[in-house]
Amino acid sequence: MTPPRDPTTKDWVKTAMYVVIALIVIMGSALVLTSFSWPVGMLVWLAVFVAGSLYLLVRWHARATAYRCAVCGYEFTISTLLDLTSPHVPDKKFLKCPQCGKRSWAMILMRDAHSHYPSSSRCLHSR
Ligand SMILES: [Zn+2]
Repeated sequence: MTPPRDPTTKDWVKTAMYVVIALIVIMGSALVLTSFSWPVGMLVWLAVFVAGSLYLLVRWHARATAYRCAVCGYEFTISTLLDLTSPHVPDKKFLKCPQCGKRSWAMILMRDAHSHYPSSSRCLHSR
């Protein structure tokens, strides 16, 4: 298992790219579906494309990242749900440390998700 590492510029570019792709999918599908059959198209768009894109994006993010506790330095990973709901700024997240139990702005780290999560390699490898 590769230890988590500090994010590089490449990681930020990759994250930004996924966000842009998600936005393009959301916007593109909105144009097609909302005009297609009101209001069914709108509901399908909300449920499938908006929720789906955000879910995939956050799930990827949760699996590709780890966090370092600002208090004790312990490194840990978080769930998709926690990734979505906890307050964050681009390089830090406000999390409760599983080691010392204190809440702090944990520093983000990158890990190579597909090496220990074979099921997620599908979306990472698609071209
Ligand atoms: Zn801690």
